[in-house]
Amino acid sequence: EPPLLDVRDLHVEFRTRDGVARAVNGVSYAVRPRQTLAVLGESGSGKSVTAQAVMGILDSPPGFVTRGEILFRGEDLLTMGAEERRRVRGARMAMIFQDALSALNPVLTVGEQLGEMFRVHRGMSRKDARARAVELMDRVRIPAARDRVGQYPHQFSGGMRQRVMIAMALALEPELIIADEPTTALDVTVQAQVMELLAELQREYGMGLILITHDLGVVADVADHIAVMYAGRIVETAPVHEIYKRPAHPYTKGLLESIPRLDQKGRELYAIKGLPPNLLNIPTGCAFHPRCPLARDVCATDEPELYRISARRGSACHFWRECLGEHQR
Ligand code: SF4
Ligand code: MG
Repeated sequence: EPPLLDVRDLHVEFRTRDGVARAVNGVSYAVRPRQTLAVLGESGSGKSVTAQAVMGILDSPPGFVTRGEILFRGEDLLTMGAEERRRVRGARMAMIFQDALSALNPVLTVGEQLGEMFRVHRGMSRKDARARAVELMDRVRIPAARDRVGQYPHQFSGGMRQRVMIAMALALEPELIIADEPTTALDVTVQAQVMELLAELQREYGMGLILITHDLGVVADVADHIAVMYAGRIVETAPVHEIYKRPAHPYTKGLLESIPRLDQKGRELYAIKGLPPNLLNIPTGCAFHPRCPLARDVCATDEPELYRISARRGSACHFWRECLGEHQR
């Protein structure tokens, strides 16, 4: 089956007063129907900017796509006509943001906002749209949906508000949903519930899902494939179970070691030393070299390509074999 979304060699830069920030530097990834791709990285790694380019909501200017293709079912969103692009992005793709409170309209009730989707895109009457809104709220398991449909966003808890966002995204039954840090603002227990709901709805509706997160801990049970980003590039890509067992990039390894584990309470958490790079001035060679425990001289001068490890795995590290632990055998 061909990919639902196929991002190829995407480059995005921000032209700022201080210079050109190279936010995305040749990212390629694909999402198949019914598949969940987790895109992982610290803030500033380019994961959200890539998604914004896909959704057509890049802040432009100052952001510009300077190269690449974004194929949706084989058609390039970057070159198709404005009208067609709006149709694809309005109904066939949807996005869920971290902060539901600022993404929702504070002066409209939840029912009015959900209902609007059906009135505008499906031409439904006010009454039918409201009934569909209640149905959807039930679907995302908001208790007492019939009573709450007339409430405003601020009257919902953070977790319930995020369910409203999910309902908005699902309303038109899109083929692809992009969720950008959908649970980051929530308590840990609520996080798990929202993530479970999202995974369940994804299976049920058969959509493709891109899950953007800085937290490797939340994606283990829901993602099929992971792409790890650093300084606007993908540094490792692998099926989810393989990456947990044996990371092939020192950055991924660092992320894994900084996940809190219940069986190691009291042990100090490993954190990757140093700061993410300044995108106005990305380090030469491997962008991760100033922070990498495995770095050698070559790392400061030669930029590693994304080495193919197996059919579905790649690592942009000169020493990926060592990282995998093959030297120990
Ligand atoms: Fe570390 Fe060098 Fe690999 Fe970069 S290429 S991740 S600096 S070992
Ligand atoms: Mg972000």
